[in-house]
Amino acid sequence: MIIIKGKGVFSAVGIGKILFITKRDTEIKHKKSENFELERTRFKEAKASALKQLAELYEKALKEVGEEHAEIFEIHQMLLEDEDYNASVNELIELAQFTAEYAVRLASDRFAAMFSSMDDEYMKARASDIKDVSDRIIDNLLGRVSKLEDTDGRYIIFADDLTPSETVMLDKRKVLGFVTRFGSSNSHTSILARNMNIPAVIGAEGIDEAMNGKTAAVNGFTGTVYIDPDQETLKMISELAEAINKKKQLLEDLRGKENVTLDGTKIKLYANIGSPEDVESVLKNDADGIGLFRSEFLYLESDDFPSEETQFNAYKKVLESMGTKKVIIRTMDIGADKQIDYFGLSKEENPALGFRAIRICLAYPEIFRTQLRALLRASVYGNLGIMFPMITTFDEILEIKGIVNDVKSALYSEGIAYSDSIEYGIMIETPAAAIMSDVLVPEVDFFSVGTNDLIQYTLAADRQNPKLESFCDTHYEAVLRLIEYATSCAHKYGKWIGICGELGADTRLTERWLKMGIDELSVSPAFVLTVRDKIRKINLKH
Ligand code: PEP
Ligand code: MG
Repeated sequence: MIIIKGKGVFSAVGIGKILFITKRDTEIKHKKSENFELERTRFKEAKASALKQLAELYEKALKEVGEEHAEIFEIHQMLLEDEDYNASVNELIELAQFTAEYAVRLASDRFAAMFSSMDDEYMKARASDIKDVSDRIIDNLLGRVSKLEDTDGRYIIFADDLTPSETVMLDKRKVLGFVTRFGSSNSHTSILARNMNIPAVIGAEGIDEAMNGKTAAVNGFTGTVYIDPDQETLKMISELAEAINKKKQLLEDLRGKENVTLDGTKIKLYANIGSPEDVESVLKNDADGIGLFRSEFLYLESDDFPSEETQFNAYKKVLESMGTKKVIIRTMDIGADKQIDYFGLSKEENPALGFRAIRICLAYPEIFRTQLRALLRASVYGNLGIMFPMITTFDEILEIKGIVNDVKSALYSEGIAYSDSIEYGIMIETPAAAIMSDVLVPEVDFFSVGTNDLIQYTLAADRQNPKLESFCDTHYEAVLRLIEYATSCAHKYGKWIGICGELGADTRLTERWLKMGIDELSVSPAFVLTVRDKIRKINLKH
């Protein structure tokens, strides 16, 4: 048994087989193989898996986002069956004796160059598709992210680190836990683990690819990972799992109960989600609504800008599933750690302080308009709130409102309905927004505090950098005072304020939030009942 220490970022435990995920951007090395027959079989099997994955993706997309979005997976299947492409890969394997992955990489580059040089726009666009399907085959050959789609089992995912777009592509039903070499408590992998209610350990420096396929037991309480655990360790982890289950059962009694303190102060307790699939867990955990829907998942899981129709269907689905309960959708927060190739953004020295979120939306209003049109059209299917991330100035809000009004006028003149009771809010996640709360608040219906970013910007400590964990004292007065000030400004104007960052679920601060007058807390679905339990034990009169 090998024992590896890291930092636990979600207190759960798990036992399972390890799937070590390597990155898509790893270079495929020029490599010869001695056994071309083996390489040919490897290619054949990886291609068969790719075809199966694409057929499944087609069915999934058809159900979730409609024919228009699903079609691309049919095109990818056709490309994989292309005779010239297959002949080219096999030739490179047999004649040049390259490994299957290197042969696929070369064939992919050749075909992509050929498509790019064509005059026909449709054929030109196939260049990125051939790269994509080839990457899928290489993924299968090397055991990279998409390999998960092709497996029946459930795994503990090991990786150096996972980007938000990699995590969004994972089939969550097959993930039992995360162990990463890098990452930080507030990185999106950690947030995802909390949303999924599974153990996660970051900073586990001792992991390596040779562990692929072995058994791991993960203790998210202590940040310990056991490779090839012995009987005693397995027993200890199973007992912990049982204790967690017992505690969950106790919390079950809180289902359907109010979020009210002993002295009668009520608070709204909402949940955060990252995709429409998470709604099930919101309802299961009895949240009053959704306080943050990170809409960027739609952009991250797509190869091109998601169309208005695709977005409309996703938002409508969430709103309908939540009935009359509030659903606050945040407009896309791309940039910083959430980079997307097709946005074509240039590399930045300091992406967290860079071209991100609302800054991109205001610079490219066409992208923003498409999202707003989809949101407004979906608004008639439920109780929608829209909020805008990364606000720093008053002028940004005026500009946003101008665009929202233009979109409304266009829809009106096209005879398309939208709700006129949508609430519009901004995230308070920069110190500038918090300090200017009194100036910003008259222009909005609500504030939602993004503590993950507010902490990193206030303490000047990159939330992605594991070396800075010790500089991130999340309870530091500097952050709490900013939130307190924003709360007093919101209330002065009769507006409400919530917290949707991870700090909202920190029960050591629940009493402080209630004392300062926070009206809403939005937490990972798994924390709803724990926070409710805490609220119901507080007496603000004492
Ligand atoms: C935050 O910054 O606290 C927040 C909720 O947004 P995100 O974590 O998506 O940046
Ligand atoms: Mg944020």
